[in-house]
Amino acid sequence: MLSMDTPPAAQGYTPPQPLRFDRHGFSYLISTAMLKQLKEEVFRANLDLVKHGLVIFTWGNVSAMDRTSGLVVIKPSGVEYDVMRAEDMVVVDLDGNVVEGSLRPSSDTPTHLEIYKAFEGVGGVVHTHSTYATAWAQAGRDIPNIGTTHADYFHDAIPCTPDMTAEEVGGDYEKQTGCVIVRRFDGLNPIHTPGVLVKNHGPFSWGRNAAEAVHNAVVMEQVAKMAFVAYTVNPSLTMNPLLVEKHFNRKHGPNAYYGQKKG
Ligand SMILES: [Zn+2]
Repeated sequence: MLSMDTPPAAQGYTPPQPLRFDRHGFSYLISTAMLKQLKEEVFRANLDLVKHGLVIFTWGNVSAMDRTSGLVVIKPSGVEYDVMRAEDMVVVDLDGNVVEGSLRPSSDTPTHLEIYKAFEGVGGVVHTHSTYATAWAQAGRDIPNIGTTHADYFHDAIPCTPDMTAEEVGGDYEKQTGCVIVRRFDGLNPIHTPGVLVKNHGPFSWGRNAAEAVHNAVVMEQVAKMAFVAYTVNPSLTMNPLLVEKHFNRKHGPNAYYGQKKG
């Protein structure tokens, strides 16, 4: 007869699987089902960038984070979209260690990780070189909030980061790109303005999940295009600030009423 002292394994007990250990020796449980679903979401979101015309070749990447396990799923580096599979997505921890996957993660992974670490509530990050948003980034200009399309999604101007220093470019460049983004949001709410232009580089956007981050990337490209045309038509245009508050708050404010009731 088995006593209370008998190890659980001897009693036929099977511990929850899979049990993983990180490089620090900490154990944590990863829900296989959760990771499979997150990989599928990230894979689909990456393909959506192509569908919406935001990327050519492999110039873009999407990631998503599971806040419970602290793990991030991201596109592999340099894999063509037409041969990429959901199971190719790479799982990393917030230190950038590969937890699962045989391919190297996107080279922009350290930038994504800085955004997740600094902006609570962000569950998906997107980076593209979409034409109009990148043009504003190259010009080094914030995209001003000059229309209700912008105000529906971004409360403030979409900010452009300052020049990176020699130390930032020469050091841990991708991580420093993330740090520059985070510093640019000093005094700004990243949830209310879910995107940024990295100067001379291109846009990053984010959302509660990968799909929302892609949605915001598409909107950012569209408002960048519309702002370019609007300033061409009238370089001294003005925006009614009442419309900024009206449009932002009807979708995101405490008394939001745009769309269908939830639940
Ligand atoms: Zn880039």
